[in-house]
Amino acid sequence: MKIFITGGCGFIGSNFIIDAILSKKHTIHNLDKLTYAGNIDNLKQFEDIPEYSFTKGDICDDKIINKIFAEFQPDVLINFAAESHVDRSITSPIDFIKTNLLGTATLLNASTIYFKNNNKFRFLHISTDEVYGSLTDTEPTFNETNRFNPSNPYSASKAGADHLVKSWYKTYSLPTLITNCSNNYGPYQFPEKLIPLMISKCIDERPLPIYGKGLNIRDWLYVKDHCDAINCVLDSGKLGETYNLGGNNEIKNIDIVDTICSALDKKKPRKNGLSYKELITFVKDRPGHDYRYAIDSSKIKNNLDWKAKKSFKKGILETIDWYISNENWWRKIQNKTYNQERLGLLN
Ligand code: NAD
Repeated sequence: MKIFITGGCGFIGSNFIIDAILSKKHTIHNLDKLTYAGNIDNLKQFEDIPEYSFTKGDICDDKIINKIFAEFQPDVLINFAAESHVDRSITSPIDFIKTNLLGTATLLNASTIYFKNNNKFRFLHISTDEVYGSLTDTEPTFNETNRFNPSNPYSASKAGADHLVKSWYKTYSLPTLITNCSNNYGPYQFPEKLIPLMISKCIDERPLPIYGKGLNIRDWLYVKDHCDAINCVLDSGKLGETYNLGGNNEIKNIDIVDTICSALDKKKPRKNGLSYKELITFVKDRPGHDYRYAIDSSKIKNNLDWKAKKSFKKGILETIDWYISNENWWRKIQNKTYNQERLGLLN
């Protein structure tokens, strides 16, 4: 397939592109604005191969999108591009509205025009379990029929984007698919998100800031399992449908941090002999902080035969190993030198 990917220099998009190119199944064109979250180093191994091409640009720019449609003639568009960090959505909500809502609408509009002459085309939108809002300890997991009930500008903008995609299916018959996934972890995740943040802070022996008492619960899915699910939905998903994706793996934030600390105590013991757990620091909770997310993935399991393969126990150790072996990758982010060399070449 020829796949037009947006946001492919981010965490999940990079993992998807790496798998797609290495499996020799797909040709990719990647459109990415290279915000702080986009890192073109992630895909440097593909710079000179014909199966991969890249445009630096914004999903709100219909001229760029139309040009890619005309020249690349994709079979599918997968929209990974988003502003994705809840904390930043609280300080800069308008950036989230622009990219997540206006950007998605711009892609849908351009796709509808392209679809008129390319009737095999499909639009796959990548979304989150956060659109459903928060659960108590005893409420059942979210399924695809739950009402959206977002709590912060990130989840509200993602919920709005999902509504736009559904409306384009109904109004313009654009063949759309949506996936709503739980928290991902794995290689290439920007070190502002919980797991890479804690690993990098441990290695630097700096305080490990945890909101509230760390009791918030998330469901965790290894990023490669997410990519497999996306391929599965691309291959056999029913048009117009939404698929929830999760790892059936609910864990409290404090337990995630404890697991990372214990693993690093063995893999990279501190010189002072203390556990990394000594670095844990509880900080004031953030506003709109959802207590619990949990997702029911039985629809994709029963209808498309997908389920998560990687256990959290194994996935977290592999992820920690990746961050230890790829310290250079996240150091460049820390000292803000990532992208500079390559952007110099591109501009
Ligand atoms: P990310 O923040 O790591 O990457 C986002 C990418 O989009 C970056 O490369 C960035 O440069 C690009 N981008 C941002 N605004 C853009 C714009 N206007 N035009 C073009 N490119 C733009 O995000 P991620 O974690 O890889 O998430 C990808 C998608 O998956 C998002 O839609 C997110 O909502 C969704 N999702 C993420 C998770 C998770 O745990 N990370 C879970 C469920 C769903």
